[in-house]
Amino acid sequence: MTTETPATTPKANFIRTIIAQDIEQGRFASRVHTRFPPEPNGYLHIGHAKSICLNFGLAEEFSGKCNLRFDDTNPAKESEEYVASIIRDVAWLGFDALQPLYASDYFEQFYQCALQLIRQGQAYVCHLSGEETRRYRGTLTEPGQPSPYRERTVDENLALFDDMKQGKFAEGECVLRAKIDMASPNLNLRDPIMYRISYAPHHRTGTTWCIYPMYDYAHGLEDSIEGITHSICTLEFEDHRPLYDWFLDTLGVHHPQQIEFARLNLTTTLMSKRKLLKLVEEGHVSGWDDPRMPTIAGLRRRGYTPAAIRRFAEEIGVAKSNSTVEFGQLEFCLREDLNRHARRVMVVLNPVKLVITNYPENQVEWLDADNNPENPDDGKRQIPFCREVYIERDDFMEVPTKGYHRLSPGKELRLKHAYYVLCEHVAKDAAGNITEIHCTYDPASRGGWTDDGRKVKGTAHWVSAAHAVRLDVRLYDHLFTQDDPENVAAGGDFTANLNPNSLCVVQALGEPELATPEQGRAYQFLRHGYFCADPDTAPGQPVFNRTVGLKSSWKG
Ligand code: ATP
Ligand code: MG
Repeated sequence: MTTETPATTPKANFIRTIIAQDIEQGRFASRVHTRFPPEPNGYLHIGHAKSICLNFGLAEEFSGKCNLRFDDTNPAKESEEYVASIIRDVAWLGFDALQPLYASDYFEQFYQCALQLIRQGQAYVCHLSGEETRRYRGTLTEPGQPSPYRERTVDENLALFDDMKQGKFAEGECVLRAKIDMASPNLNLRDPIMYRISYAPHHRTGTTWCIYPMYDYAHGLEDSIEGITHSICTLEFEDHRPLYDWFLDTLGVHHPQQIEFARLNLTTTLMSKRKLLKLVEEGHVSGWDDPRMPTIAGLRRRGYTPAAIRRFAEEIGVAKSNSTVEFGQLEFCLREDLNRHARRVMVVLNPVKLVITNYPENQVEWLDADNNPENPDDGKRQIPFCREVYIERDDFMEVPTKGYHRLSPGKELRLKHAYYVLCEHVAKDAAGNITEIHCTYDPASRGGWTDDGRKVKGTAHWVSAAHAVRLDVRLYDHLFTQDDPENVAAGGDFTANLNPNSLCVVQALGEPELATPEQGRAYQFLRHGYFCADPDTAPGQPVFNRTVGLKSSWKG
């Protein structure tokens, strides 16, 4: 499979503009250092791919660096399985995932910084319950009330924080809070929680710690420790930026620029690890890499290419306001790539037998076929032709409707790469179903054309009955029936909008070479779309996934 990215000129966008200005003004010594910071609490999805392409792409473009950093500060939900899947996905997209970094490696530094804030009188241990904390926080229209623990002395706070660290309190009994401003119009600044207690073992640090930093506190410090220059995140964090800035300024450490952009939303799918986890856990899909999932693992299994995803990320660009992108736009980028690389083969999904009555019995001809007419370098292969072949049932109509140009009694059809056949007769079973179509062929039409100016409008794919290989073919549709799976009609429960027909398995007949498909290779089944072998393929039992159909409904 190819990983090359088609040359696309980077489009101007506001993030590029900010970075270019910073370089020009010598900010951060004109360095560019970005990061992609997933929490390893699930598999990555196509929204993450956007962020990966953006962060690694900017680093490449400005000759800087991009860190893959695991934001692993929440032990209860994280695991090594997720870490491994994320490394694999980032590498598969074509970016450097060789030296991932871990927020958990900075736990001691986070702790030392917390001590500094306590000593500066800017953090305190608070014993309010979760419910009380919410009540004291106030609302958008009412200022908050100071916690009764807000004025504890530095010594008291140091001792209590030490007790928290030593495991002397139960989970939820107390927290460490930053002392900022309970009347701030920005609720995030009303003494946010910095540390909480958790006895869940951490996948890397085990039980060394029982206090864990909260996202807003840890995240900026992670960026600062790594010398990040531009910390790019999604719009929900715009309101958190003053807090990001407050922590770093108050600690007096390196202070990256946080920049927010609109997250990717795609029609007919969901973009949240938590919700995707629900689909996996409740068995609505076969796993995180189910080919219907919008996860990178699912897309890979479905036959998406890194080049297509990178191109998509570039084409959708970055914006300052949220919107939803049509799934069709992703498919458009995919087809553009697959069309260049896919090997063309013939597969019949709904077969009916066609007998060529004037073709010698037991004769086999090996006919030339292009592997990819888009790319002559891919060469040709030889496909077997015999007296009996299979065609699609749809390519025959006993009583043709107006404009039907395929096979019907007395009419001719071109068999791709082979001959013209003329329909003489149909055989039926007792119930009236067509069992065989009897034709004659014109030996002069070898290769699928003649010099006599004869017009044969329809062309069909086919497979030789004697050589056909049985394939399980999985045809997919969108996982959800609604553009927005969380729309109100379902009462917010997206599982009510699952598409019951998102997977359809058919037994098909294909060219001999499909008996041993190459994993990772893209195929075009003529007239049916792009396919790839599924890892469920076993010896003698090839299984294919339809990656995407041939036709685009996207009107971009
Ligand atoms: P989820 O809700 O799916 O768990 P998250 O934002 O909590 O997503 P993180 O693991 O924290 O997931 O995300 C890592 C990075 O990916 C963050 O910088 C985040 O902004 C970015 N990201 C996540 N979802 C999207 C999306 N839909 N579009 C663009 N970027 C995204
Ligand atoms: Mg998250």
